[in-house]
Amino acid sequence: IIKVRNLVKNFGELEVLRGIDLDVAEGEKLVIIGPSGSGKSTLLRCLNILEEPTEGSIEFAGIKITDPQADLPKIREEIGMVFQSFNLFPHKNVVENITMAPLIVKKMDRPEALEIARSLLEKVGLSDKAESFPAELSGGQQQRVAIARALAMQPRVMLFDEPTSALDPEMVGEVLEVMGDLARDGMTMVVVTHEMKFAQEIGDRVIFMDEGLIVEEGKPRQIFTEPRSSRTRSFLTRVM
Ligand code: ATP
Ligand code: MG
Repeated sequence: IIKVRNLVKNFGELEVLRGIDLDVAEGEKLVIIGPSGSGKSTLLRCLNILEEPTEGSIEFAGIKITDPQADLPKIREEIGMVFQSFNLFPHKNVVENITMAPLIVKKMDRPEALEIARSLLEKVGLSDKAESFPAELSGGQQQRVAIARALAMQPRVMLFDEPTSALDPEMVGEVLEVMGDLARDGMTMVVVTHEMKFAQEIGDRVIFMDEGLIVEEGKPRQIFTEPRSSRTRSFLTRVM
């Protein structure tokens, strides 16, 4: 469903992505790991053109989204994204946060949007928080709302950029659990995370990035237990 070819991204003189080739199949769970500054977030942001690639091409569901004529708002509807910081609208309550994009962007009618919000809140275990405001929720709860908000657009792919790394340790589990449910439901997922246990449980494939390149990829067990590259090995000994 995603096909990346020779993706290059420069910020001025800085070469952040130096030729990435990547395919993600429908239903696949791809985990991306790598040191700070290796270009993981930039790669994710290129996938829905939040960053404009310097060179190369990206196809999503058969559409070349790096074409200047590509309908980016439409494409972004189909690619949900969850960040490290939850980015909820602080002056809107939970239900309003979840229904806003479906109402405005998808022009969904209100009863349908509310019904979707209700079932998503149940899915992420927050049915009792519908009327709460973000400031009244814990970090883990806010991140679960952020996931529900992304899902409300009924995306075909979900991108996660270190969704648990800003959370207190005791809240990491509840967010990973929601992501695990989503994976079991068959969602196509690209996840940047250093949660190696989670990566082993849900990942179909792991990619190790360093200095803007994919150094190594393979099954989680192979990457984590017998990495081929010495760079992968030294990274893993630092984070595991
Ligand atoms: P981390 O694990 O710390 O999140 P990362 O692998 O996600 O790191 P990126 O955020 O993709 O790394 O950043 C890669 C490089 O690109 C870094 O050197 C960063 O400073 C640089 N960079 C990222 N965004 C920009 C920007 N908007 N302008 C200039 N440089 C940027
Ligand atoms: Mg990052």
